[in-house]
Amino acid sequence: MSDVIMSDVWYYKILYIFSALLTRAFFCTRLNWRHNACRQYPKIISATIMQIRHDYIRHQPLTTIFGCCKSYIMEREINFMREAIELGRQGMLNNAGGPFGCVVVKDGAIIGRGWNRVTSDNDPTAHAEVTAIRDACKNLQTFQLEGCEIYTSCEPCPMCMGAIYWARPSKVYYSSGRNDAAAAGFDDSMIYEELTIPVANRKIAMHCLIPEKGNILFSEWIKKDNKTAY
Ligand SMILES: [Zn+2]
Repeated sequence: MSDVIMSDVWYYKILYIFSALLTRAFFCTRLNWRHNACRQYPKIISATIMQIRHDYIRHQPLTTIFGCCKSYIMEREINFMREAIELGRQGMLNNAGGPFGCVVVKDGAIIGRGWNRVTSDNDPTAHAEVTAIRDACKNLQTFQLEGCEIYTSCEPCPMCMGAIYWARPSKVYYSSGRNDAAAAGFDDSMIYEELTIPVANRKIAMHCLIPEKGNILFSEWIKKDNKTAY
């Protein structure tokens, strides 16, 4: 958009300012429809003026309009993320576990909710993403989440990434990053590193025993007629 240079013609500037104001006000009013739009108007106008000034200095007059459109488009996703964060907060306040929440969305509706329940359920696998996936699959009566979106309050750990890949949703949104989690005492960098080094060098010893016997199971699976592949 840097090639869009604001003209020196005065009426162009005025037209631009009014159109930017109207566009932002329109989208922001719709964004804040449920949060008393009138009270938001002074904030919207002042934010718009600041944005216009910023755009004018940088000769990017269309940034405001495109920015507003983008915010409007993402508002649906942002609301789902807020729900995921709130689930994490409630779980934490109720001492269910760590500050992590997650929702699974299909066709614009939440069909699964989860929060960290590691310490309350004595379950090290009860991360928010895993509990949300279990809830969604139970509600949908399926073991795949195709066409679903996952909103999680923090970037998934390696275990949850595995669960997500097995569940096969179409998209994942996360709020905090892994470094933010590490700063709060939830450092999963060790697991990420473990996955990149040879099995023999990993911290938890792994030994292969009678593989020929274990492989018989696969032979039986391949021959099995009434199976549900996944
Ligand atoms: Zn996890």
